[in-house]
Amino acid sequence: MEKQQNNMRSRASREKQKRYFRKRVVTTLGLLAVIAGVGMAAAVVASNKKKDKEQKNGTVETIADPAVTEAPQQEEGQKEQDQQEAQEPEAGSWEAVLAEANLLAAGYDYDAAIGMVQNYEGYESVGELTAAIEDFEARKAECVPVNISEIPHVFYHSLVVDPNKAFANQDTDPQAVGNNQWMTTIDEFNKITQIMYDEGYVLVDLKDIAEETVDENGVTHYKEGTIMLPPGKKAFVLSLDDLSYYHSYDGYGYASKMVLDENGKPKCEYIQDDGTVVVGDYDCVPLLDKFIEEHPDASYRGAKGTIALTGYNGVLGYRTDISYQTVPDDINADKKKWLETHPEFDLETERAKAKEVADAMKADGWRFASHTWGHMKVGEASMERLQADTVKWKENVEPIVGETDVIIFAHGQDLAGWPEGYVAGNEKFEYLKSNGFNYYCNVDSAQYNVQIRDNYVRQSRRNLDGFRIYFNSIGEEDTLSDLFNASDVIDPLRPPVPRLH
Ligand SMILES: [Zn+2]
Repeated sequence: MEKQQNNMRSRASREKQKRYFRKRVVTTLGLLAVIAGVGMAAAVVASNKKKDKEQKNGTVETIADPAVTEAPQQEEGQKEQDQQEAQEPEAGSWEAVLAEANLLAAGYDYDAAIGMVQNYEGYESVGELTAAIEDFEARKAECVPVNISEIPHVFYHSLVVDPNKAFANQDTDPQAVGNNQWMTTIDEFNKITQIMYDEGYVLVDLKDIAEETVDENGVTHYKEGTIMLPPGKKAFVLSLDDLSYYHSYDGYGYASKMVLDENGKPKCEYIQDDGTVVVGDYDCVPLLDKFIEEHPDASYRGAKGTIALTGYNGVLGYRTDISYQTVPDDINADKKKWLETHPEFDLETERAKAKEVADAMKADGWRFASHTWGHMKVGEASMERLQADTVKWKENVEPIVGETDVIIFAHGQDLAGWPEGYVAGNEKFEYLKSNGFNYYCNVDSAQYNVQIRDNYVRQSRRNLDGFRIYFNSIGEEDTLSDLFNASDVIDPLRPPVPRLH
């Protein structure tokens, strides 16, 4: 049973992998490195400032996300692309199969790479193919298991596109202080991603850390997963919190929503000072997608990050919450104002657009998680509030992003300490577990904390935000040096970050 389950699981992931790489091969037919495209524009946002109480009290979490980016070398990249397109192997040819297999192998899926070559009829008589199989087998044999209990999990919030807007008026604007503490800039994110990649970090999926088996009663059990990487490579998990483009972000130099470009790829919309809207790589998702496209060995079998979503302001920049339609008497002032300036608002249209974007993100390897509907402090909340909140999440967010068994708690709160974990009688855990949640994440400053019990998986997370980067960069804290040197990445436009009170 167990074995069967594993087989099914690896087949499913192989399929996903294949789809993922196939798509890429079709567009660029690349050898290992695919080319990137378009440079990232920077810009600025305009629009009305709004405050969001929920967000303000709430952003106790942090951000972080390592793996992304590198300055795009547009001209060179374009040239390379032209060349590659010119010599693109014919679909179905052994050259095309080899290119695809090389991509799979770059993502450490040697079995899938070998299988792909062996599926090519007559591969035995093509020297390049038999040599490739030997090469894949040799590389596979070199791999060593990752120590699952020592895998760090880092996270970011939405990235600051324009630091001058986000960080202005530190003395008088509490939100600017929050931006400085909790947010990471695009420049910092890109540097961190490149440095971690250079240091051998490989992005793995949150679910790669566990192996799931279903018993004869249909109950799922969890144990440590197996991740095999070449010696010297190190695994890490990534999540992104609050990818909702809250009303409170307006005017502070963040992207305004996720959209799909003409190729159906997830990008961000950014509103410039003059009100014009540009589409580009203005947040973690498109930046990381591009980085992994350029560096297929940055990701283990196509893994991306897990995106933790609340629902109260909608998701991904779409105002998908029912309250925008029902407009209750106590509706938040931000929502009211937004509705006044968007008379064309239609809930179903908004939800359909959001779902389209979420579907495209999932197809690219991104995973979604609950962050609670109301960004609630789950540790302090009553059972009644937790239940009401969970219902709202399931009604307003789940239909857009699909079912998930991952919950990433807001405000870094949790249901129990380490190492005791969730034990029988933990009412909130039992409630969430009965609502389908099996993977739980909090925030702490530990390098890593992984707890895999028979009935759940739990991993702590580290914020790669302004607070951590700043205090590490001035030598008052040492919480990042295993990942990167903070003084190498801190944005010169970031002002000193005040201590938390
Ligand atoms: Zn949050």
